Amino acid sequence: MAFPTAQALFFERALLPGGWARDVRARVDRGAFASVAAGARPEPGDLRIACAVPGLPNLHSHAFQRGMAGLGERRGPNPDSFWTWRDVMYRFLDRLTPDDVEAVAAQACVEMLESGFTTLCEFHYLHHDADGRPYADLAEMGARIAAAAQATGIGLTLLPSLYRWGGVAAQPPTPGQRRFLNDLDRFLALREATLRAVAPLEAPCVGIAPHSLRAVDPALLRDLLNAVPDGPVHIHAAEQTKEVEDCLAWSGARPVQWLLDHAGVDARWCLIHCTHMTADETTRLARSGAVAGLCPATEASLGDGIFDGVAFAAQGGVYGVGSDSNVVVDAGQELRLLELSQRLRDRTRNALATREGSTGRQTFEAALAGGARASGRAIGAIAPGLRADVVGLAPEHAALVGKQDDDLLDGWIFAARASPVDAVIVGGRRVVADGRHLDAEAIASRFAATMRRLLA
Ligand SMILES: [Zn+2]
Repeated sequence: MAFPTAQALFFERALLPGGWARDVRARVDRGAFASVAAGARPEPGDLRIACAVPGLPNLHSHAFQRGMAGLGERRGPNPDSFWTWRDVMYRFLDRLTPDDVEAVAAQACVEMLESGFTTLCEFHYLHHDADGRPYADLAEMGARIAAAAQATGIGLTLLPSLYRWGGVAAQPPTPGQRRFLNDLDRFLALREATLRAVAPLEAPCVGIAPHSLRAVDPALLRDLLNAVPDGPVHIHAAEQTKEVEDCLAWSGARPVQWLLDHAGVDARWCLIHCTHMTADETTRLARSGAVAGLCPATEASLGDGIFDGVAFAAQGGVYGVGSDSNVVVDAGQELRLLELSQRLRDRTRNALATREGSTGRQTFEAALAGGARASGRAIGAIAPGLRADVVGLAPEHAALVGKQDDDLLDGWIFAARASPVDAVIVGGRRVVADGRHLDAEAIASRFAATMRRLLA
């Protein structure tokens, strides 16, 4: 659908890079902020928002997994783990067609937008048909993610994933991995096709995602980085203790340590999870400028463990949040779980605040900066030159009413039962009004038909 476009936005209250401001008027040109002025007067035709904050980037997602949310919650004959969940996931994706992926991804994008995420970084590894054969268009599945982004209006960073092996030390892939696999040449062709697939979108970004040190070997990773010298690089690292042990047995180094030693990790990189790091790895990663891509709801769901956010943040580490498995899709809840996990572990409060003041504000701004860096897009603040991505909070929501400034963010992140997000603007286009995506009904009904068929 064609979303209504605003030439100018007027915020009674807005979180700007310098802090909270009143009566802010922002002009929008070609999807980006052209000017932002506080103490301004509204003009006729301005799109008005009572309380505006920058849209949050979702720095890690596998959108198709929204379709299996809640389907891995049954005890099996053997001890359940990430690895048994992964078997359930492989069985689910076995059947997915491109149409299915587009329908599920569109629903996930709607839920992301309604919760306050305005950019999706999609870590995309489901490339081939059910038999593991490439589609005629190598980027058929990536094109469906792009179509879902276009249909919903969310900003997109698409990260085609290179997946070659079944485990560290170049173990052969399993049949369940047949839809992911490429060698370097075919992957680079797929990436070219992905660039064509995203071309119709507004300000898209295409990065690369070597899946993990389980799925690429050192020479392949080096050749990939040489072949694609710019743009975001995302990789899963140290989510599970078994992965750390396998990596140690293979290389003598832990996954994050190996990457820091051998891969030239810098601000171009986003390491997803980093759940299991030593104090030395934590310090080195914080100094590298790379983003730690944290997915607290998924990490809790899968029993991964708890990221050492306190030490990482204290050393100036850059982090952001992602919805990963999409078991729940909720921007505020990811930040809530991130902070609460630290409190539970350390028996403390306001764990991730690195200075006096609101924890919600500090974690929100950290996730804006980290998410923007990981996305490779010009986003992350209400400021000239950046994409006009804005989330409006309802000041009359029960968790926000009567509150001011940072307390509004804390109310959203820590105290809201239902989301207080009522308006969402992406690239100057209004996609959510009164808490609902403008095309939510049609997208939900396609999703429902897809799910009924998949689960029949
Ligand atoms: Zn992931």
